[in-house]
Order: sequence, then C-alpha cells, then structure tokens
Amino acid sequence: MQKAVVIGSGVAGLAGAIRLSLKGFDVLVLERNPSFGGKLAQWSKNGYRFDLGPSLFTMPQFLDELFELAGKDPRTYFNYQKLDADCKYFWKDGTTFTMYAEENKLSQELDKVFPNENQAVQKRLEKAALRYERIGHIFTEKNLRSARTWLSKDVAKALTKLPSYKLNSSMHQENSKDFSDAKLVQLFDRYATYNGSNPYEAPAILNMIPHLEHGFGAFFPKGGMRSIPTALKTLAEELGVQFRFDEEVQSISLSKKKVTSVKTKHHEYPCNLVLTNVDVWYTYNKLLPNTNPPKKQLEQERSSSAVIYYWGVKQAFPELDIHNILFSDDYKKEFKSIFQDKQLPKDPTIYIHRSSPLEQEDAPNGCENWFVMINAPAAKKDNWNAIQDEYRQTVIDKINAVLNTNLESLIEVEHRLNPASIDSNTGSYLGALYGTSSNGKYAAFLRHANTNSNIKGLYFCGGSVHPGGGIPLCLQSAKIAVDLIP
Ligand code: FAD
Repeated sequence: MQKAVVIGSGVAGLAGAIRLSLKGFDVLVLERNPSFGGKLAQWSKNGYRFDLGPSLFTMPQFLDELFELAGKDPRTYFNYQKLDADCKYFWKDGTTFTMYAEENKLSQELDKVFPNENQAVQKRLEKAALRYERIGHIFTEKNLRSARTWLSKDVAKALTKLPSYKLNSSMHQENSKDFSDAKLVQLFDRYATYNGSNPYEAPAILNMIPHLEHGFGAFFPKGGMRSIPTALKTLAEELGVQFRFDEEVQSISLSKKKVTSVKTKHHEYPCNLVLTNVDVWYTYNKLLPNTNPPKKQLEQERSSSAVIYYWGVKQAFPELDIHNILFSDDYKKEFKSIFQDKQLPKDPTIYIHRSSPLEQEDAPNGCENWFVMINAPAAKKDNWNAIQDEYRQTVIDKINAVLNTNLESLIEVEHRLNPASIDSNTGSYLGALYGTSSNGKYAAFLRHANTNSNIKGLYFCGGSVHPGGGIPLCLQSAKIAVDLIP
C-alpha cells in the first residue's frame, strides 16, 4: 500500500486525508498542535463556549460530499440548520437592515429601509448567481494549471462572456454604479472581506460572493463550528487514517526531486506522497529550505487578518441577529488603514457573532457568547498584544454607542486573538485569515497551485493555495489536489 503523509489537520488536511484514504493510500496525519481542526478551534470558560475561527458556514454540500463518497449518511455525523437571516447591519445614524434569506421577507425589508433599491438588489443577486454558474464553479472546482481545464466546453463558454465579468472594475466601482444609496454600496462592498480582500482593489467579478452566502444560504452547524472538523476526524478514523498530535514537521525530504519522507524532531516517516496543509509560505520557507521557492506566489499580498475579542456577556441582546455588522462611517479610509497603512482603523467596522441563541449550551442562561472581530492588517509587529489592549476601548465605545449599552460592565470572561497569535496558533503567515488576498485583476488566479511540477509526490491544500481560503474553498482544494494524483 502506498504511504501518504498529510501535514496539518485543518479542514483541508482532514478532507485530503479522507480522500487519500478512499483512493487507497495508507494515510498518516501529522499535526503540531495538541488537537485537530486548525483555525476551527474552540475555547470554553465558566459556562461559555466560543468557536475561535470561522463563524459563517456556507456551501455545506462540499462537506456532505465527503461522507457520501465514503458511502455514509452525512446526517449521522453532522447536522446544520439554515439561518433566517444572512446578517443584520447597523449604521451609526440608527439605520438597521436585515438581509433575510427568504425572498418575500427580504423584499419587505428592502421596501422599508431602501425603498428605491429593491429592484437593484434583486438584479444584483441574479447577476451574482449567473457569474457563479458561468465561471465561479469552474474556479472553485478545477485545476487552473491544466490544459484540460482550459480546453473544456465549460471554460470556452465562460470565456465568451469575459467582458461581463468586469475584470477592469473594482467591486466598489461596480457597486457604486449599481446602487444609489451609499449604505447599500457599503453593504455589497463588504463581501470583499469574505476572502480577506479590499473592495476598492478586488475585481468586480467577486461581486458573485453574495451568491455563495445568500443564494446557497448561510448555515449553522449543530454543536457549533467545531463540529465540522470533529465530524471529519471521526470519518477519517473510521476509514483507517492515523493521527499524531504534538508532532511538528520540520522538513520534507526529497531524493531526485521526489518526496521520500517527512521529518519531525524525533521521527522520520517514509512516504510516497505528501499533502501539505501548512500555509504555502511556511511550506517553502521552513519545510523545503533547499528548494527554489516560487518567489512570485510567495510575495503575493496576504489577505487581511483580524483582532478578535471573545466576550462572555451577562445579558441577552434581542436586537442582535446571529451575524451582525456595525459599520464604520468611512469605508475607504478603513481599507486604506488596513491594506496600505497597515494599521488598525480608528473607526472600525465591527462584526459581532453569537451562537448562544441557537446553542443554549454555549452560554449560561440569559447570557451570550460574543465573538467580536475587527479586520486588521496581516502585518508583522512586535507589539500586537499591546496594540490589542489599547484598541479594546475603541471597540467597546463603538458598540456602546450603536447598541446603547454599557458593555464593559457586562463582560464576564474574555479571550483574544490577533495577527501574531493567529500566526503562531495555526501557522498562517502574518496571521492572514484567507492566505493571499484577491486584490488586483488576476490575484485570485495567481495563487499557488495544488502541485509543484518540479517535485514529484508533493501536493498542496488549504486556504493559502488554489482555490483559496474559507471552509468551502479549502474543502475544494483537497479535492482538486487529490484528483491530480495519477
Ligand atoms: P488551517 O486551519 O490553517 O490549519 C493548518 C494546520 O496545519 C493547523 O492545525 C496547524 O497547526 C498545522 N500545521 C502548521 N504547520 C505545521 C507543521 N510544521 N507540522 C504539522 N502541522 C502543522 N472561513 C469561513 O468559511 N467562514 C468564516 O466565517 C471564517 N471566519 C474566519 C475567522 C477567523 C478568525 C479565521 C482565523 C478564519 C476564518 N475563516 C472563515 C477562514 C477559514 O478558517 C480558513 O480558510 C480555513 O479554516 C483554513 O483551513 P486550512 O485547511 O487551510 O488549515
């Protein structure tokens, strides 16, 4: 039996291990942390439970597919519910808008808040769906480095519509043209952050992102986001995949440009194939120090990172939904701070998520588990902890002003993450949430591929390689990588 080593147990590593096992490999997963799941970690204290990473679960079909491939019923491993609303938005002037999932409810809300823009929003959602159907699914399902992909009928058809993808406009430019209300422009600009990009730089083709959330739906897994890697690990183990934790890979050994083994501090694991789930920057700079790194790809701009406060709050806030956004007054200035000045914005857009209204066990009775996230630069700084200490008051002041509360007096427990701790906890270079950004016309197409044509037996998966970050794309990266194995 051919031996495969998967380095890292993020969602892509777990999905890759399952696919390799189903392909007939003897699979070993080596993980440097004491537990699996990578960014989908959790933290609990005094009756509060927090998912530390992703909170929005989209395109569950990519997860279900793994169980179905193994001949299992996904529902016996894992369940989820569709949310009534994608997100609730708050502005400082008191305006609120809920992006309901159900079309009639959404239409009524649009008539109430943006009475002249109902049609424009409907048209935009249709355009987003069309773009995904024409090109989005090719991007997320295929290896872009293969001639077969480019010669396929699907791609030929997609290319005939090239001008409609608006590669020369930014998301913001297209949004400004399609909507007359500045608040709606801001709302649709925000979708750039779903892959850690800047709406003033990311191409308008990415205005298909709302379809991934609104068209397919926003979901929440029973038991929280942590139940995603838990279900994947259970399936992997049933298929015979072996796991070793606290086992950091230090190098990948090659002989005649072919993978031969993987070395950790105390062991060497001979293998025929390596699937690395480690950020591609670290894979080359730490695990393959003697190979020629693909400079252009490794120098690509990183996606945004985040500062996050996990607060156990001893009060219920019925005015909040599951996903909430408290917008800044000047979005352009905010993105300039993050991507050009590499500073935290003075007036931040704040994301608040609570799972406790869906999962009673996530907080004590009458209390809520707040995940409060602010987009931040993926940048090296010696003092991220001190910066986050100081920033806490800016965040609390803004929440107090918008929700008319006294948050400080309600916080019972606290945990934090920032770019430096995201980097050290999950091995994501500079703490980028989604690998590289999609800022620029071709950025999304220039991500590192799922193979390296100069090294036989080496495959790549995870948020830093094609097709990119976010749970659905990471799952797809594992599929594309394993499908490339002859
Ligand atoms: P990762 O989760 O990055 O895991 C990599 C694993 O490799 C880690 O376990 C690490 O310990 C291990 N590793 C690294 N180096 C070594 C080594 N040398 N040896 C052994 N093991 C090693 N996505 C969404 O879809 N929805 C969201 O709402 C969302 N929100 C997010 C919020 C936050 C705060 C963060 C951080 C991310 C968010 N994302 C979201 C993005 C999403 O979490 C990631 O794209 C995805 O989880 C990355 O998975 P991955 O497979 O690339 O591996």
